[in-house]
Amino acid sequence: PSRLDIRNVSKHYVVNGQQRLDVLSAIDLSVEPGAFVSIVGPSGCGKSTLLRLIAGLDGDYRGDILLHGERVAGTSLSRGIVFQDHRLLPWLTLEDNIALSLENAGWNKAKRAEAIRSHIALVGLTGFEKAYPHQLSGGMAQRGAIARGLVGQPEILLLDEPLGALDALTRLRLQEELQRIWRVEGVTMILVTHDVDEAIFLSDKVVVMNAGPGRIVREFDVGIPRPRE
Ligand code: ADP
Ligand code: ADP
Repeated sequence: PSRLDIRNVSKHYVVNGQQRLDVLSAIDLSVEPGAFVSIVGPSGCGKSTLLRLIAGLDGDYRGDILLHGERVAGTSLSRGIVFQDHRLLPWLTLEDNIALSLENAGWNKAKRAEAIRSHIALVGLTGFEKAYPHQLSGGMAQRGAIARGLVGQPEILLLDEPLGALDALTRLRLQEELQRIWRVEGVTMILVTHDVDEAIFLSDKVVVMNAGPGRIVREFDVGIPRPRE
């Protein structure tokens, strides 16, 4: 089964070396291949933490996170991630930032170059290959981050409030971009947002979390058919 299965996942942090903070409790979630799932909930309910676990950025949790039935461990090309801040390295050009994600891909030079070119084109940044992050607008930098997340052809793209820092018009444009990219790339999308309208507009499933400790309280199928191109 080529889907993501999150089974009975719980997580706590230890704050100040002693105080236990339970952030996730008994999270169960299955994500079908090619789905667009949004996770919404109040600030601090553990959305980012859950995404970091799925990304393999933190292996310290209880329960299972399975991709193709195998426990995810460490970061991997099978999952790309985009954060609220673009996190492009300021001393590298756009194309070099994107190239960095392919360092461990084991691809030859021609395949890497083609993947970088096509993903810069995918997000509409052709012509900005040699630009440094400070030369890009906020929306462009976020497009660059999306290209970097997708360049390794991940099965799942994890998006942590990717549009949260953008002005309203740029956000609207990028929402449409994300939907188009989802359609053409066939990638599974998991989006964390506190914007319920954004979640409903973009996804076919909305998962609602609550705090104290973070748990899933509702799952909605949005039910709007969105045929792929
Ligand atoms: P959300 O993304 O829903 O806002 P987070 O997953 O970022 O929630 O955080 C959940 C809770 O865990 C918050 O109370 C936050 O302050 C706390 N937290 C997040 N990361 C850490 C960390 N590395 N160490 C300790 N506490 C953390
Ligand atoms: P987001 O808006 O994506 O949820 P946060 O502002 O909650 O991000 O967290 C930013 C970073 O700080 C994350 O790496 C998170 O793990 C860490 N962090 C958040 N809350 C705490 C905390 N209470 N103690 C230590 N680290 C934290």
